[in-house]
Amino acid sequence: MSTRANESGPSSSSGIDETHDPNLRSWVESANDPATDFPIQNLPIALCGMTNISSQGVHALVPIGDSFLDLDQLVVCKLLDKRIYPACHFSDFDDGVRAFRQLLSQDSSGWSALRRRLSELLSGRDPALRDNAEFRESCLIARDVVEADGYFESPEPSNYTDFYASIHHATNVGSMFRPDNALLPNYKHIPIGYHGRASSIVPSGTSFHRPVGQTSPPDSDPSAGPGFGPCKLMDYELEMGCIIGRGNVMGSPVSIADAESHIFGLCLVNDWSARDLQKWEYVPLGPFLAKNFATTISPYIVTMEALAPFRIPAYERPASDPRPLPYLTSDANTALGGFDITLEVHLQSAEMAKRSMSPIRLSKGNFRHMYWTFAQMVAHHTVNGCNLQPGDLLASGTISGPTRDSRGSMIELTWDGDPFANPPKLVPGTQRTPIELPTGEKRTFLADGDTVIMKAYCEREGYRRIGFGECRGTILPAKS
Ligand code: MN
Repeated sequence: MSTRANESGPSSSSGIDETHDPNLRSWVESANDPATDFPIQNLPIALCGMTNISSQGVHALVPIGDSFLDLDQLVVCKLLDKRIYPACHFSDFDDGVRAFRQLLSQDSSGWSALRRRLSELLSGRDPALRDNAEFRESCLIARDVVEADGYFESPEPSNYTDFYASIHHATNVGSMFRPDNALLPNYKHIPIGYHGRASSIVPSGTSFHRPVGQTSPPDSDPSAGPGFGPCKLMDYELEMGCIIGRGNVMGSPVSIADAESHIFGLCLVNDWSARDLQKWEYVPLGPFLAKNFATTISPYIVTMEALAPFRIPAYERPASDPRPLPYLTSDANTALGGFDITLEVHLQSAEMAKRSMSPIRLSKGNFRHMYWTFAQMVAHHTVNGCNLQPGDLLASGTISGPTRDSRGSMIELTWDGDPFANPPKLVPGTQRTPIELPTGEKRTFLADGDTVIMKAYCEREGYRRIGFGECRGTILPAKS
């Protein structure tokens, strides 16, 4: 067995090495399908609860084509060194989560060692797994087995912070409430964020009930009391999540130069939002019950290393915009702080599902349009000494682009105002064009039974396409 744990990291400063070679193929044939999200160049990690196979508990799984490689079983079979992956002991259900946290706490050379070892085993460069039927039997699990006997877990972040890093989203939403003053004065100086709720983060595929709560008195009778009942303006927010790897000690800020070394990888996030509850409650302290009833994340964490070929310059600020303060600025962040990730949102109503109609695409955008980078969010989050912990989730904020079809929420997609028109055409408030579904149903916001499916993938000439899988959730009727 060779573990290569002590070899040096990626060969070039770009982080691109032999594991990104577009010609690299796997003996797991489905991984060579050009359409798969999970070729051998990707190797994300998911946590999965296993209920009905020999080794119960939460396991770390690496999707490869249509199968999953079980990291804990690789250790049991002595194909993976415990120093690279501190496997769980199967005695306690939470062992798997703890083992995963330990992986996150390593520095990036530990993450590199794992990636290189998996690449070696799955390419067959080390044939130890490929050529041993018993090992394959215990380490490689078919997708339908995972779907039948397992369920994805979120990595159970202790903390969740939601940012507001898309200037297009902030301008759109700001324009609805403040047509003459869409962006508040702090926006271009601070990566705006708020502390979310970690306990209600759920993995893709989880259904939840429409929230109930207070809403503002009607505009026609402001002196009437608040309304109360099921949310009427149910929305999704398309976001990318950043999973923190190594934490920082309380009182010790992470510099922007070090920020990315604290990021393990990215996933998709749906920050479900009850807009009518939000409108009434958010003044003056920000979102609360409009957000904390459910947040869905995709189970696959795509590592920063896998994303190396898809790094791009940070958003280019117009010359008239203020330069951020020095603690939020670095040449490396300007040159390569961004990500070229294509993002899509799809919708399937209950009626569409009943009639076996495929989901329709609501939007297509790209993460490249974000005003702030994840490195800037990490540096800002910790500048006051706040300590991040392994597994913490930092979400980007709704990802909207400059065009209508790249807006990342219903409140923007169905809104008829256009803050980017020249001269500005700012239509305050309520004018909306519903989205028509193939059944003839119409949506300005989400209805009970609607399923929202988010997808993300990276493509670049000369590199293998990689994807993030799905972030999917269905809204059930409010509990009476
Ligand atoms: Mn959000």
